[in-house]
Amino acid sequence: MNNVVLITGASRGIGRATALLLAEKGYQIGVNYLNDSRAAQEVVSEITHRGGRALALQADVADEQQVVAMFERLDAQLGVLRALVNNAGILFQQSTIEQLTAERINRVLATNVTGYFLCCREAVKRMATRHGGQGGAIVNVSSAAARLGSAGEYVDYAASKGAVDTLTTGLSLEVAAQGIRVNGVRPGFIYTDMHASGGEPGRVDRVSSAIPMQRGGQPQEVAEAIAWLLSDAASYVTGSTIDLAGGK
Ligand code: NAP
Repeated sequence: MNNVVLITGASRGIGRATALLLAEKGYQIGVNYLNDSRAAQEVVSEITHRGGRALALQADVADEQQVVAMFERLDAQLGVLRALVNNAGILFQQSTIEQLTAERINRVLATNVTGYFLCCREAVKRMATRHGGQGGAIVNVSSAAARLGSAGEYVDYAASKGAVDTLTTGLSLEVAAQGIRVNGVRPGFIYTDMHASGGEPGRVDRVSSAIPMQRGGQPQEVAEAIAWLLSDAASYVTGSTIDLAGGK
C-alpha cells in the first residue's frame, strides 16, 4: 500500500492526533511543522516505533518556495501523494478590532489562507487525473469561528477560516471531475496549545458551560472525522464541511 498523506502543522494538537491515527490506518505520513523540530521528530518516532513510515518536513506554509520544496521532498522520499490535510493555523492575542494591525492581519491570512491555497495547488498538480495523477482527497481544517465570528477575541482569525470554507467549496467543484474530493472540518473548543497563543491557555474550560455538550473536544475526535473524510468510506462526499464543536 502506498497511501501518502501530507499533514501541515502535525507536530502537536489536531495535526499530531491526525498523523498518529492515519499512520495506524496504514498511511505514510509527511509531518510538516514550522519551528518545533523535536516535537515533529517525536511524532515521526512514535509512528516508526509502531511499524509505520513518516517523514518530518520543516516548512513555513505561508512561504511559496518552502511549500514547493516541501512537496518535492515528499515526492522523492515518500512517493505519490494521495491525501492532504491542511491544518497549520495560527491566531494571536485576544483583542478587539481597535488593536488589530495590518501586520498581524496579514500574518494570520498568510498562514491560514495563502498557506492552504499553496498546499492545495501543489496537491492538485500531483493528484488531478488531467495531469496523469491517480486522484486523491483533501481535508481543510477550518473552525467554528468561521460561523461564530470570535467577537472580542480574534475576528481576523475567524475571517481567515471563513475564507477556508469558501476555498473548500470552490476547489471541490473545480476538481470534482479530476478524481479529487475536497472537504472540511470545523472544530471548536478543542484542548490544544493553540489557546495559549491567544493569551488564555484555559479558554476551553472557561467556555465549556456554554457548549451544548458541556465540554471541550479532544484532538482525537477531530482526527476521526478527518480520517473518515479521507477514506473510501466517504467516496461520494465532496464540498462538505463537518462541524465538531459539541453542538455550538
Ligand atoms: P496548535 O496546537 O497551535 O498547533 C499548530 C501547528 O501548526 C503546529 O504544529 C505548528 O508548528 C504549526 N504551524 C503554525 N504555523 C505554521 C506555518 N506557518 N507553517 C507550518 N506549520 C505551522 O493548533 P491546533 O489547535 O492543533 O489547531 C490545528 C488547526 O485546527 C488550526 O488550523 C486551527 O485553526 C484549527 N482549529 C483549532 C481549534 C482548537 O480549539 N484548538 C478550533 C478550531 C479550529 P510548530 O509546532 O513547529 O510551531
